[in-house]
Amino acid sequence: MGRLTSEEILFLRRHKITMSIMFDATGMNTEHWRSAMTGEDKSFAFGTTPCDRGGHTLRSRSNNCIQCNTANITFQLRNAKPADVYIAASRSKQLFKVGSTTELKRRIERLNCVAYGGAGDWFVIASVRCKKAGAVEFETHKKLDNYRFAATYIESGREIEAYELFSCDYTCARVALIASTPEDERGQIQHHPNAKNLCAFLPRPRRIG
Ligand SMILES: [Zn+2]
Repeated sequence: MGRLTSEEILFLRRHKITMSIMFDATGMNTEHWRSAMTGEDKSFAFGTTPCDRGGHTLRSRSNNCIQCNTANITFQLRNAKPADVYIAASRSKQLFKVGSTTELKRRIERLNCVAYGGAGDWFVIASVRCKKAGAVEFETHKKLDNYRFAATYIESGREIEAYELFSCDYTCARVALIASTPEDERGQIQHHPNAKNLCAFLPRPRRIG
């Protein structure tokens, strides 16, 4: 399983890049991860072949080192399409996942198919279409930082770290999304009518690392 160094984690935070748009390319050759990224909502890869200049392993989709040249980040994100920022919930695990995607229905099916975070009962409790979905997702994650929950799952035979899980109460998750959404887009937030009752979870606050 690919793990990020603390230096890489700091780099991503500084540039407001969330893990949901990072593809784990550990153990794959360049051709393989570039084709595996196609069709996924991933903008960058980690665990790639170290760059010649600085030995960095974070790359853009076009295989440019984003640590040597951060303009590659701006370029990649500027071309990102509007997307849905969503909160999904698992009742079996009593966890929330905050992510963003251009194909919400398919993403939730996928989460359940791969048993993301060890759960196969993910459903959407709130979502909002945003022009700058990556930034809204980043802010929501930041507000919920104290409730991050560490878990791994197996996908295509590889162990993957789930970075977007939170153990908190429903109101906390909901307020974080609302507060992170730009005012002119807040009116479009869709809430599951029965989310509060369905997600009366007991929070287990736990920090990663
Ligand atoms: Zn580099």
